[in-house]
Amino acid sequence: MMKRILLLLAGVAVMAGAALVKPLPAVKTVKVNERVYALLGPAELPSAHNGGYMVNSTLILGDKGAILIDTGLTDEVGAHIRKAAEKITRLPITHVINTHHHGDHSLGNVSFAGVEIISSENCKKLVEDASGDWIAIAENAVGRKLPNTRAVPASRTYASQTRTPVEINGVKMEFWVPEAAHTKGDLLVWLPEDKVLIAGDVLVNTTLPNFRDAEVKKWVQTLAEVQQYPARTIIPGHGPLMSMKDVKAMHKRMGDFYAGVEKVYQSGGAEADVRRQVSLKEWQKLKHFDSLMGGNINRTWLQVEAENF
Ligand SMILES: [Zn+2]
Repeated sequence: MMKRILLLLAGVAVMAGAALVKPLPAVKTVKVNERVYALLGPAELPSAHNGGYMVNSTLILGDKGAILIDTGLTDEVGAHIRKAAEKITRLPITHVINTHHHGDHSLGNVSFAGVEIISSENCKKLVEDASGDWIAIAENAVGRKLPNTRAVPASRTYASQTRTPVEINGVKMEFWVPEAAHTKGDLLVWLPEDKVLIAGDVLVNTTLPNFRDAEVKKWVQTLAEVQQYPARTIIPGHGPLMSMKDVKAMHKRMGDFYAGVEKVYQSGGAEADVRRQVSLKEWQKLKHFDSLMGGNINRTWLQVEAENF
């Protein structure tokens, strides 16, 4: 009798524990064409509410296997995205591509054991160096320890300032590694036959771009170059799919902002003058303005100062 009560109590405890971990938000699947699927996460900052699921991924179906771009912030998010992919295809995922090193795009790699991981050379280095920081950010955001989340850097890499045509599972791609933009290790994937561009966080839609590791001036230049691709569909790192018109708007917003900060500096102003003298109207329309814009101003100011000193 006692044993049965104890078992019952243990069962209740397990259920209570399980209830603390909320199910992750649903993956929003957008079929781009017969072989390309955008798997969109909520356009939010990572939190206990979304369990760290807030990134966009892309699934590409080849002849012998599937390719997944970006894997999420935690092992659980990685498994969640994997499950969504397995609902779309029975093909095994043979390759994972990381668009950059930030944890929300790469820490889910751990849930893809035995899969070849691809990134830029700099991304690989940054995954190795910054993984401790990113795991701390992830644990802080979701509000609990993540004992099964760890960094898995790429085994196949591409050098900075290169555009490399590759074919994986019969799918033609171009890997473009610009010198710097959102990070020093961004990799954009262009699918010439599908006219699809997968941009990672070099492009984000409806949300504020995060400058924490950015080279703002080079990012603006990269956004000009993005517009040379005859893309029909553009998959950003966060937020809904984009058109070239959205890319142009982001390019203008970033270019105007950088030029505005430069003007304040050159006229002898201080960082605090940026808020008063540079129009932030277009930025205020974006999500996460309050959480990210102060940091973005600071990062831009330091780069303008270094550039103009
Ligand atoms: Zn991101």
